[in-house]
Amino acid sequence: MGSQIHVMFLPYMAPGHMMPMVDIARLFAAQGIRVTIITTTMNAIGFKNSIERDVESGRNISLEILRFPSAEAGLPEGCENLSSAPTPETTIKLIHGIELLEPQIKILFRERRPDCIASDYIFWWTIDVATELGIPRLAFSGLPDQVEITRSQLPDLVKRRTEFSEFFDKLKEAERKSFGLLMNSFYELESAYSDHFTKVTGIKAWHLGPVNLFRSVNDNALRGDKATISEQRCLRWLDSKEPNSVLYVCFGSTARFSKAQILEIGNALEDSSYSFIWVVGKVLKEDNNEDHQQQEEWWLPEGYEEKLKENGKGLVIKGWAPQVLILHHPAIGGFLTHCGWNSILEGLCEGLPMVTWPIFAEQFYNEKLVTQVLKFGEPVGNKTWRVWATEDSTLISRSEIENAIRRVMGDENEAKEMRKRARRLAEWAKMAVEEGGSSCNDMKSLIEDIRMFKRLTEKTTKES
Ligand code: UDP
Repeated sequence: MGSQIHVMFLPYMAPGHMMPMVDIARLFAAQGIRVTIITTTMNAIGFKNSIERDVESGRNISLEILRFPSAEAGLPEGCENLSSAPTPETTIKLIHGIELLEPQIKILFRERRPDCIASDYIFWWTIDVATELGIPRLAFSGLPDQVEITRSQLPDLVKRRTEFSEFFDKLKEAERKSFGLLMNSFYELESAYSDHFTKVTGIKAWHLGPVNLFRSVNDNALRGDKATISEQRCLRWLDSKEPNSVLYVCFGSTARFSKAQILEIGNALEDSSYSFIWVVGKVLKEDNNEDHQQQEEWWLPEGYEEKLKENGKGLVIKGWAPQVLILHHPAIGGFLTHCGWNSILEGLCEGLPMVTWPIFAEQFYNEKLVTQVLKFGEPVGNKTWRVWATEDSTLISRSEIENAIRRVMGDENEAKEMRKRARRLAEWAKMAVEEGGSSCNDMKSLIEDIRMFKRLTEKTTKES
């Protein structure tokens, strides 16, 4: 065998992209690959400890930490991740800031000359550097399938050409030219779509997930932002509840609601006969400050939290929740989710049925997979794709929410069947990552493919 293969990973600066990609990078290192992860100062904080522990256990993995061009992009210091962008305007600046890193990252690739670049699919330009260096580019991507969906549940981009169309054309083109796609999924979960995708596009895809199943307990506690609630407090509260009796409610790292919608959710959770943990998001402050920068604040109906403290029915988390630890607790019986792909996998691995409430991105596709294809969830009935909620966004009423919760958490036969299906999926997921399982085999064959690519390139260079 030749020298150690070196793969450089470039994750995108959003938790739902970054955390699974770091997991994949660590998996590569566990397979004896030399790994470098490129990121920025604030983003590194979320996973530096896990990487240090990997190094201590003898793995060849390191971080390449870049300074984020905050001032150049007009951003406050420390705002380096989409989850820390409070308004649409800040998000646009942040996306611009990320773009400003391109020349620096290209130089890094040219200096280090890795054997392979594994990049988030959003960094479409990594295909140019990979081609220039004569090395394979792997794109880390979301779910590639299509299911029945209404027009209003689709982003404009899919319906007509918009200002983002050109950018998406570039992503697709880069994907087509890539060596293949890395999927945080497992073959058995979506085999029909996976086969269809490969047949139609001709692009190779390796299913390496669910990557969360490779994490240790320590990793789960340390991942992402710092939890805003003590894990002990959360777990103690759950310990006091019956098995399968609590609904976990979380809308991921970037979704925002209006006050009116938060009120409906709060009322629905109170109306429902189930206990709950609710990770509430921030809302935009009504009165802007002097420099007209919009600010965010926590908001809950007057007296809401006090009531919960008295009756013990619910736990509210303002900020980052230790989601994976919560989902793993036996008291959790269901998950009301915005259908971010990571959340779906994390809930699925725990065998949890879901109440689905997609908001934007590819979340409506994910919802259909859960409710129509795999049938282990019920929709609250959101029909409108929308990035930022405003006070005039269509509301999902308390009764719609409460009905969906009952259909999932209740004792009806349909709910029982859903729970059974969810548990079966969890078993399949575990089998996929075990020795001999489909994801484990895909990982090995991917590494062999990269080795083969390297050998062939070296042979061609020697001969010419
Ligand atoms: N997450 C978490 N605590 C929170 C919110 C989110 O740990 O309070 C994690 C969650 O476990 C998941 C990720 O952040 O791994 C969110 O990714 P997902 O694809 O579900 O949604 P996104 O945030 O990208 O919309």
